[in-house]
Amino acid sequence: MTLSTTERKIIESSIRDVKDFPKPGIIFKDITTLLNDKEAYGVLMNHLYERYKEYSLDYVAGIDARGFIFGAALAQMLGVGFVPIRKKGKLPYTTISEKYSLEYGIDEIEVHIDAFNKTKNARVLLIDDLIATGGTANAAAKLINQAGASCVEACFIIGLNFLDGQKNLKETTDVYSLIEVN
Ligand code: AMP
Repeated sequence: MTLSTTERKIIESSIRDVKDFPKPGIIFKDITTLLNDKEAYGVLMNHLYERYKEYSLDYVAGIDARGFIFGAALAQMLGVGFVPIRKKGKLPYTTISEKYSLEYGIDEIEVHIDAFNKTKNARVLLIDDLIATGGTANAAAKLINQAGASCVEACFIIGLNFLDGQKNLKETTDVYSLIEVN
């Protein structure tokens, strides 16, 4: 199931472009304006619920920090557990971690080692607000699989098509982006 033209317009027009943030040349896709537009937020969450209710999911995993907002709400709607995938050093219990490249340098994300243990071979949906280079999402999908679960799809509100992130991530998991930016 994909978005109707009307639904896409409502969601797309609620996302604000902020030029030159956090540095010159970047157009930052600001989803706070989507979240405080009750119609757009409602259309978005209903669509995600309708799509993923058929996936027999056991967990939704959200990427630090904006993936928590959509992921936690969706998990509650679907009646499944939520798992936070966090930046290094934030989770209190034993973790497994994965490093990934940034434009300059490297970063690392972590998940609790027992996060998916309540269900054997748990089916997990990964969610974040946006995929750019795909470095973060790729590391997150790998972590889910290393933790003994299976990442069945990675979902993004916005996919930047001028970078290869979605193409690369498709080698690890299925990918669904609601709004494609060319
Ligand atoms: P990447 O690992 O390059 O795919 O970057 C994805 C992460 O960076 C996501 O968590 C996004 O929230 C954030 N991000 C990257 N580029 C943008 C952008 N242009 N607008 C908003 N968020 C961005």
